[in-house]
Amino acid sequence: MKYSELAEKYQELESTQKTLEKTDILAELFKEGGEDLEYLVLLARGRIYPEWNEVEIGLSSSMMQDIIAEATGYTEKEVEELWRDEGDLGLAAEELAKNKKQQKLMSTTLTVEKVIQRLRKVAEMSKEGSSQSVSQDKKKKEIADLISSSEPLEARYITRTVLSHLRIGIGEGTIRDALAEAFFEGENKDKIQRAYDFTNDFTEVAQACTKGIEEVEELKLELFRPVNSMLAKKVDTIEEGFDSVGKPAVIDYKYDGMRAQIHIKDREVKIFTRRLEDVTEQFPDVVEKVEEHIDAENCILDTEIVGFNPEDGSMIEFQKLSKRIKRKYDIQKQVNEIPVEVRPFDLIYLNEPILEEEYSERLEKLDRIVDEEERELRLVDREVTDEEEKVQEMQQKSLSEGHEGIMMKKLDAEYKPGNRVGYMVKLKPVMETLDLAIVAAKWSEGERAGWLGRLFLGCYNKETGEYEQVGKMATGLTEEQLEEITERLKPLIEKEDGRKVWVQPDIIVEVEYEEIQQSPTYNSGYALRFPRLKSFRDDKEEADSKEKIESLYEDQK
Ligand code: ATP
Repeated sequence: MKYSELAEKYQELESTQKTLEKTDILAELFKEGGEDLEYLVLLARGRIYPEWNEVEIGLSSSMMQDIIAEATGYTEKEVEELWRDEGDLGLAAEELAKNKKQQKLMSTTLTVEKVIQRLRKVAEMSKEGSSQSVSQDKKKKEIADLISSSEPLEARYITRTVLSHLRIGIGEGTIRDALAEAFFEGENKDKIQRAYDFTNDFTEVAQACTKGIEEVEELKLELFRPVNSMLAKKVDTIEEGFDSVGKPAVIDYKYDGMRAQIHIKDREVKIFTRRLEDVTEQFPDVVEKVEEHIDAENCILDTEIVGFNPEDGSMIEFQKLSKRIKRKYDIQKQVNEIPVEVRPFDLIYLNEPILEEEYSERLEKLDRIVDEEERELRLVDREVTDEEEKVQEMQQKSLSEGHEGIMMKKLDAEYKPGNRVGYMVKLKPVMETLDLAIVAAKWSEGERAGWLGRLFLGCYNKETGEYEQVGKMATGLTEEQLEEITERLKPLIEKEDGRKVWVQPDIIVEVEYEEIQQSPTYNSGYALRFPRLKSFRDDKEEADSKEKIESLYEDQK
């Protein structure tokens, strides 16, 4: 398929707000896709690889600005001005491509395959050991080449794809529905969703769809390919917890650590965060503990990794532990400074996928393969009970030992990847915090000039795949935090207008607030009163959903 045909579809998708229309347009595209279908399901969400693959293009907006200048023959200043006027670098690239100052000698027609392969080549450059600046230059050249061979509309979407922000409002659910419509007359959405939950890979799911629903059902969990973690719903009382998970239930301590999915394949260990990032290298100590204390050739454990203070053994909060997630150097130092304990609580694969078995059976298997050792690797503290008092006792004990509360889990439930189905609920005494993306910011004035002080927060609209603003946060930031945020936001800037900047929604922060109000000021329709920063959530990829905000708002009433 020609890339120009895809660009036209993108434009159609962009011009409607209606999810059903978007689904129809995509279904058409997928039907016509042929060999390119595997690429189209990714490109439709502005991706070049499936979700589980972390390789990224890694070019910032300002680099993209240079690239557009080079490809079109305009100056960087001219590109920047147009970017500001249009409010979008993709539109700026399109405008300039209409009147290129330099023409390519030979222009070739871009195909979908050519474009994605070129973008993948660029993404792979980050992995090759070459020095940062050399590889950035090479990357820029490759993309400039691509832009200079493209038609104006193509330039718009190539630019946006490089920046991983397509702005056409397509979420995972729309891809799923469009596949169902294209191949099964709108049926089998559940089965497609399930296959996607297991694989995190629409290319595989789409290919299976072309062969029939049996093939879709065949897609299974695989070792070393992380699967979305089952998530918890929140309850306010023990009674409500039992209503959700039934009696008797498994009651666990809830630790303030990091969710880790640990895979063992032929005794080799890999560790993934809940955003499916491979962090094996950052946690050699965990690998060692797992090798020593887990007796299985092939398995997948669901665990919480909890940090503790090496001096007095007390637990440390997630915020401190999270430093280890991003750290790629001085790893041994980190291991000594922030030692961890591994606390498994579920098993979803033992020589074969077992996530459809009941939790009680999975737990039996888990107990059999864990050889517990104090401060190395221990099962979570857990009890099975139907008595509210017993649960209350555990709740108090957990809090007095400095943990977050308790989890209540349904004994006869399967493991549902990525879902908050209520098979597992959390009971915490404090007000629910929100994990939100920083979507825009404002340069401070006066003493704090040079820092991005005001942070605009966004929640995730699952239907459109876009972020919507829910308020701004200005207080509660220490100078250190301001500095960190500013440094991290700078390369993410997409657009500037006066002191305000818009950024890619890559940084997720956990915020506390007084209450949620309805508000016409922000495009989500809600505003947080007095939001304050609690922590950075580098372990998370996506902010809380707009649905969550809506339901918290309803709960307040
Ligand atoms: P929170 O901020 O409350 O952790 P969240 O959105 O990060 O919420 P939830 O799925 O809502 O995640 O809460 C469950 C999280 O609690 C799990 O992802 C896991 O990291 C952590 N956790 C701690 N102890 C346990 C346990 N015993 N069983 C399951 N999860 C646990």
